[in-house]
Amino acid sequence: MRWEAIPTPCYVVDEAKLRENLEILHALEEETGAHVLLAQKAFSMFSLYPMIGNYLSGTTASGLYEARLGWEEMGKENHVFAPAYKTEDMQELVKICDHIIFNSFSQYERHKEICKKHKVSVGIRVNPECSTQEGHEIYDPCGAGSRLGVVKSEFKEECLDGIEGLHFHTLCEQNADDLIRTFAAFEEKFGCYLKQMKWLNLGGGHHITRPDYQIDSLKKLISSIKEKYDVEVYLEPGEAVALNAGYLVTEVMDIVKNEIQILILDASAACHMPDVLEMPYRPPLQNGYQPGEKPYTYRLSSMTCLAGDVIGDYSFEKPIQVGDRLFFEDMAIYSMVKNNTFNGMPLPAIALKKENGEVEIVKEFSYEDFKGRLS
Ligand SMILES: *Cc1c(COP(=O)(O)O)cnc(C)c1O
Repeated sequence: MRWEAIPTPCYVVDEAKLRENLEILHALEEETGAHVLLAQKAFSMFSLYPMIGNYLSGTTASGLYEARLGWEEMGKENHVFAPAYKTEDMQELVKICDHIIFNSFSQYERHKEICKKHKVSVGIRVNPECSTQEGHEIYDPCGAGSRLGVVKSEFKEECLDGIEGLHFHTLCEQNADDLIRTFAAFEEKFGCYLKQMKWLNLGGGHHITRPDYQIDSLKKLISSIKEKYDVEVYLEPGEAVALNAGYLVTEVMDIVKNEIQILILDASAACHMPDVLEMPYRPPLQNGYQPGEKPYTYRLSSMTCLAGDVIGDYSFEKPIQVGDRLFFEDMAIYSMVKNNTFNGMPLPAIALKKENGEVEIVKEFSYEDFKGRLS
């Protein structure tokens, strides 16, 4: 299928770019011996799991459904972390996960026996209480009052029996220097327990495939941890796996004017790229510039009734016409996993731009997908 023939809205994942990212992550595994897992919450395009599985050690999940998806579609190492587990979910998790991470000692006590029975490797998440993020309080597990991870003052050394791993996850889109700072804080508080562990999981939020990522610093850190503590090291990036590896293609439906020219698109921030409003951030747009930078500036908005469903103001070299297609970039991650049908908006199709340049529609959605989750 040609680009111009793709139905809109549509997420298009770029296979070549995904492979570039996977090669970087695979080289990291090879050089350091660390295990890299796909954090499915960022990217769950399971038709690509066989390809991703050729490069990475496996998957990690935020609960039963993601764990099951990783198990069914990739079938390699399968880890899970959740702030709490239901007893009935645990009965299935112990069969499909090799590693289960608990958020508290009380959760561990509750599910300890069944994990032991199924020989699952159990870990506990700790909170190093070291904030390295600015701006995005909502994404900071070390923020004040965070429920994520056991803080040092609540850590129960006497309850470690059966626990084989420690886990922390504190970063979001960060570089290796912040990980090094975080590891130092972790080591000061919890390093004394690491010696008796089999593994350490450094979580996600490592922007490893970004061009300015300090990969040598990361490699050094991993090597020094392995040497000093003799543990397996896990990393579970989500974003870094599919960073800059997808587009959201949209068509201009109408142009209205209220002080500024406003484009009505068939893609919506609220429905199809919720992080634009939640984070918030301004997505990169192909051939789109800062407002006023080029001669023609427009506000990009959507077909929903939400007044604030605005993606941002962008300028262009040439005037935009109804029927034009726009390509939002970096739309593989936290997009199709977070979308919704608010206003009865159709879900974007999911397509793959293959390495030979062809575009293949992998899945399309319809009215039934909207109706099917309501009653
Ligand atoms: C969100 C999350 C990840 C993945 O984070 P990215 O920022 O997408 O790399 C990994 N592990 C845990 C526990 C998470 O909550």
